[in-house]
Amino acid sequence: MYHPDRIRHPDNCPALVLNADYTPLSYYPLSLWPWQTAIKAVFLERVDIVECYEREVHSPSFHMRIPSVIALKQYVRPSEHPAFTRFNLFLRDKFSCLYCGTTKDLTFDHVVPRRAGGRTTWENVATACAPCNLRKGGRTPREANMALREQPIRPTTWQLQDRGRAFPPNYLHESWHDWLYWDVELLA
Ligand SMILES: [Zn+2]
Repeated sequence: MYHPDRIRHPDNCPALVLNADYTPLSYYPLSLWPWQTAIKAVFLERVDIVECYEREVHSPSFHMRIPSVIALKQYVRPSEHPAFTRFNLFLRDKFSCLYCGTTKDLTFDHVVPRRAGGRTTWENVATACAPCNLRKGGRTPREANMALREQPIRPTTWQLQDRGRAFPPNYLHESWHDWLYWDVELLA
């Protein structure tokens, strides 16, 4: 029987890594391990296999289906704050300009400009479209008479996950759906 997994290259078979409580180890970025790492962890007995791809890997001494979902045996406490990355910053601002609200042509703006001592931190960097960024120039919002629609904050992991419900990653293997919250019902 045809199944897309059968012709999938092993390198395109990452394992979704769940914590010992069966929630994803991390959402942003989504916790994925390459198949080699996942299988190694299985043999080291650090993880349990939850679900598998149809795809198998072979060696002279063994063959096994590539794990698609694995769970750590030992619980790892999740970090309270997400990493300060471009993606996470866009996600915090819902992929829209904090000045005009557009979702096109997005860049980053230092709210207090760098020349005035503004730092590159969660609290001082806002998603801004290129036209707003250009208009604001090296000025503060007050100097430029441009109001922020929302004050930039350092989000907690929970706040960011909440925003992330609307922005699933591009690729989700079918076996992952039960372990993630990107499904139609939750969005409804
Ligand atoms: Zn704008």
